[in-house]
Amino acid sequence: MRGVLSVVNVSSVSAAAPEPRSRPLDDTVPFIMQWRRTPSWSPPDTARIDAIISANVGIAARLDRALRERLLEHTAALLQSKRWEPVAGIELTDEVLVTIAANAAIPILSFDTWPYRQVRSIIVRPSASLSSGTRAGPVAGTYTDEVIGTIGLASPHSGPIVISWDAALADSRRPALGSNVVIHEFAHKIDMSDGYADGVPPLRGAALDRWQRVLRDEFHRTEGRDSDHVLRPYAWESPAEFFAVATEAFFCIPVRLAAAKPHLYDALAELYRQDPARDSVPAQP
Ligand SMILES: [Zn+2]
Repeated sequence: MRGVLSVVNVSSVSAAAPEPRSRPLDDTVPFIMQWRRTPSWSPPDTARIDAIISANVGIAARLDRALRERLLEHTAALLQSKRWEPVAGIELTDEVLVTIAANAAIPILSFDTWPYRQVRSIIVRPSASLSSGTRAGPVAGTYTDEVIGTIGLASPHSGPIVISWDAALADSRRPALGSNVVIHEFAHKIDMSDGYADGVPPLRGAALDRWQRVLRDEFHRTEGRDSDHVLRPYAWESPAEFFAVATEAFFCIPVRLAAAKPHLYDALAELYRQDPARDSVPAQP
């Protein structure tokens, strides 16, 4: 039905970006230049980063001291090493930058920032980009002209990540709801780091075999997809979306994921070298 707004987490895993009717990327150039020329901007200091994380990043509440320090370090590193680009009139305040960078840092706390070597720029929008036009419907042979809102996008190779600030902030403050658009899009980049957006992260040997087994058992099964209580249905769009949605659950609702899908939880714990379900302080909604 025309005019029905459906805000979904749409991610691109192909060269065709799903924002054809939104602002073309060329339009970002004047904003980029303006931001880069701003002489007054300097990276926030550690105390400022820590205060913003305490206010906005719910997952950080359960991190022990060592991981919290890693979070501060990685957040600062992402702020300084990546290109941050505002579009559609948003101002990249310290709060915006730190909140997004800190959520992006959470999956890589046990590494340095190498998993994001293909992330060169992060484009931040104030809210979802809307697109319309006739496309395939939910049932084979049907069509829809529903308006779609895109809150996140991970372009392949060295293409940018696009994040909607309003969705990022809402997710960040309430991890118990199980969604996190920033973690989702950066998980796509981890998936793509071996060259393929196929839902198979860069693992080797026995760890790769275990992940393939989990993917077969959890993704390729047909029953229960619509009634899964831990992963939202979007996970079954493709193996790549399954990996991204499962990563969100792993960090946002780890206790629930470990209880419902222990093999999936263990495979993700092995990949990320973190054990959030057994952290002493649970994340608060
Ligand atoms: Zn996605």
